[in-house]
Amino acid sequence: MGILTEITEIFFPSNIYCIGCGAIIDRSRPYALCDNCIDEFRFALGRTCLKCGKPLAKNNVRAFCRDCGQGERLFDKGYCCMLYGSKEKVPLLALKYGEKPYIGRKLGQLLYDRLEPENLKVDIVVPVPLSRTRKAKRGYNQAEIIAREVAKRMRVPCVCAIVRNKNTRPMSGLSAGEREKNLQNAFTVRPHFSRMIAGSSVLLTDDIFTTGSTANACASVLREAGAARIYFASVAAGADLTIEN
Ligand SMILES: [Zn+2]
Ligand SMILES: [Zn+2]
Repeated sequence: MGILTEITEIFFPSNIYCIGCGAIIDRSRPYALCDNCIDEFRFALGRTCLKCGKPLAKNNVRAFCRDCGQGERLFDKGYCCMLYGSKEKVPLLALKYGEKPYIGRKLGQLLYDRLEPENLKVDIVVPVPLSRTRKAKRGYNQAEIIAREVAKRMRVPCVCAIVRNKNTRPMSGLSAGEREKNLQNAFTVRPHFSRMIAGSSVLLTDDIFTTGSTANACASVLREAGAARIYFASVAAGADLTIEN
C-alpha cells in the first residue's frame, strides 16, 4: 500500500461499508462484501464458456456461449468472477462512476482468488486502457486498479502496455459488427513495451466483459507484438444470451 493510500485508509476506512449494498460490515470481511451480497451475487461457479469463461445459460447445452459460438476469440482463454446483473453491477458502477477507486482493489482481490486455482503461468498483467481524455476525466482507469491488485498478488509486473488511440463511441447499443468497426485501430502497443510482450504470457484485465470485442481488439495487438499466450480476466461478464429452440 502506498503511503498516501495508507493515510487515506486511516481517515476514510474503505471497507466499513459493504461495496454491494452499503450495509455496515466488519473491516476484516474479504472483498468488503456482506453475507447477503455474497449469497445473492451470482458467482461463476457452474458451467462456464470454454473460450471466454462467462457463465453459460441453463438452456445452452454447448460448451460455448452465444457470442463465442458466433465469432472468434483472439485470446487463449477467458475467466470471470460473476455475472454482470443488477446486484453485481453496484460495486462496478461505483468504481467506474462513483469516484471510489478503493473498490477496484477489493474487486482485484476477488479476481485474483478466482484465478489462483487455475494455476496460470503469467509474466505480466496488462489492463484494458481508457482513452487519455476519459482517464483524465475519471481520474483513474478502473481496469488498471483491478489489474494492479491482481499483479501484486501474482507477484508479476502490471504494465500499461496498450494505449487507446481515439475516443471510441460508447459500445452499448451497437451490434457486433458496429462494435468491431468502432474498435478498428483503436488500440496500439506502446513501442517501448514491445520487447517485454514478445514471447510472454500476458493476462489482459478489464472490469466488465460483454460481447468481447474490446478484449479481442486488445488481444489482437498483443498477439501482433508477439505475446506467446494471452489470458483474459474480468470481474464480471454479461449473461450468455443463448436461447435454444
Ligand atoms: Zn452487501
Ligand atoms: Zn464465451
